[in-house]
Amino acid sequence: MSGIIACNDKTMYWFASFSTSMSSQEMEENPAEAKQFVLSKLGKVADNFKAVIRDTELENLSIAPLRFRHPWDILWGRISKSNVCVAGDAFHPMTPDIGQGGCSALEDGVTLARCLGEALRDKQGIRSEEYKRIEMGLKNYAKERRWRAFELISTAYMVGYIQTSNGRILSFLRNKVLGGFFARQQLKLASFDCGKLTTS
Ligand SMILES: Cc1cc2nc3c(=O)[nH]c(=O)nc-3n(C[C@H](O)[C@H](O)[C@H](O)COP(=O)(O)OP(=O)(O)OC[C@H]3O[C@@H](n4cnc5c(N)ncnc54)[C@H](O)[C@@H]3O)c2cc1C
Repeated sequence: MSGIIACNDKTMYWFASFSTSMSSQEMEENPAEAKQFVLSKLGKVADNFKAVIRDTELENLSIAPLRFRHPWDILWGRISKSNVCVAGDAFHPMTPDIGQGGCSALEDGVTLARCLGEALRDKQGIRSEEYKRIEMGLKNYAKERRWRAFELISTAYMVGYIQTSNGRILSFLRNKVLGGFFARQQLKLASFDCGKLTTS
């Protein structure tokens, strides 16, 4: 899987996911080889996409292996503790495969602001009460976002794994069955409504 987008008039962003016998450390140590490998794996893409990859300076390449994180850690693990919580990639690290990392980090921000706003709204109290209300607001945030984050990291890993697999069975399933399923799942994930920033 690969993609490309213009950030501004002068900068392009691209990504490609693939499987290789080279380790990520070997790739990082040989970025020129990694770039050649990506170019050889692109298949049928526009010539100007290939040109962007070819002209990418080696120091601008970022190479990372796909990692599995247990989705149940999100269901049963801590998302907030006292008056601290996680959000964005720190909560549900994303790969480029489902294109949801940026949006889901924003969803977290909206939900978090709403939960904190509600916890602190129209209430005057001593400091320790405020602390408790913040703690409660963060707990509500964790409750609202837990299942969404679970679904996001599970889908991102599965799509990444299947996209980069060379196995005969998985390649067959990817080409014949799973392509359509994941495309629908991606659209479903993208049309998520995290609600308004304020409640009234
Ligand atoms: C290769 C790749 C391609 C991707 N492509 C897409 C895509 O096409 N679409 C999409 O929606 N998502 C994509 N994602 C996912 C997306 O980039 C992330 O999900 C998103 O950036 C998460 O936002 P964030 O604010 O949580 O974290 P980040 O964007 O990582 O921001 C965290 C910030 O905190 C800073 N920081 C870290 N430690 C400290 C510290 N101790 N003190 C101060 N600052 C600190 C970092 O420098 C960084 O600026 C991609 C991810 C990867 C790896």
